[in-house]
Amino acid sequence: RNLKKYFPVDKGLFKRKAGIVHAVDHVSFDIYEGETLAVVGESGCGKSTLGRTLLRILEATEGEAFFEGRDIFKLNSQEMRELRKQMQIIFQDPFASLNPRMKVTDIIAEPLVTHESLERREREERVAELMELVGLRKAYGSRYPHMFSGGQRQRIGIARALALHPKFVVCDEPVSALDVSIQSQIINLLSKLQEQQNLTYLFISHDLNVVRYLSDRTCVMFLGKIMELGPTNEVYNNPMHPYTKFLIAASPIPDPHSRQKEKLILEGDIPSPLNPPAGCRFHTRCPYVQDRCKSQEPGLTQIAGRSVACHFPLE
Ligand code: SF4
Ligand code: MG
Repeated sequence: RNLKKYFPVDKGLFKRKAGIVHAVDHVSFDIYEGETLAVVGESGCGKSTLGRTLLRILEATEGEAFFEGRDIFKLNSQEMRELRKQMQIIFQDPFASLNPRMKVTDIIAEPLVTHESLERREREERVAELMELVGLRKAYGSRYPHMFSGGQRQRIGIARALALHPKFVVCDEPVSALDVSIQSQIINLLSKLQEQQNLTYLFISHDLNVVRYLSDRTCVMFLGKIMELGPTNEVYNNPMHPYTKFLIAASPIPDPHSRQKEKLILEGDIPSPLNPPAGCRFHTRCPYVQDRCKSQEPGLTQIAGRSVACHFPLE
């Protein structure tokens, strides 16, 4: 509720002006148990920051976040430690997030060592179970991360994230670093696991094709704000926010043989998150801009089961 995450930026670095980046700016939404909520937007829109703030990897500047009724920002470190078992994250770059000096079994066992007091045997059994769950051969257990392909490394990352039976998992661009041919394997795995383990996903992606078939609802962000949020099918088939329409038109068409190359080109500068434009943050690029958009910021309003932040939503 009203989540904000601001970062102060020093002068000098990149010769920019000092100021405050409004990475997540007044964001409110719900996530329902068992669903996948996709958060999409271009890089820098605040989607990763949003995911990390919800898990308290980053501390929120302001706002509240409730997990099963408890405001997680108010929990002390001991309570948070307990809650962490239920809230996990899968990172974009599995290589960067795996310790190169640790064997696969030890990487997967790490959360069990930190959070649970299991007998060694029990722990080994759980690790074997997790490896099977994500489709890793048992013989791989004694190998090191560099001996694996990107897709296999992501399977290790997923196994580690699921070690403590979480309920809520933030998937932060989990397939963006992978070859297209591997992406669908990992996406299928995540879908299967969601069903088996009754997981709830916040699925962050810049690629609308990735989330289209995976998510129940889609949340479109631009410069730290939600532009549109609604059932994925409806958002894709009938975008109401001009920015959503642009994102869909700009995302590559999955069929490589398709001749349809029509693209919607946005004019105007990409505004800086340091000094977001007055009024609608999208107004410097919006093809439908009107005078009112330049001074009045549109709030998120409910239209036909969807939330849209635009003075002139598309019909
Ligand atoms: Fe475009 Fe105005 Fe809607 Fe912003 S409020 S998206 S500028 S039409
Ligand atoms: Mg990111």
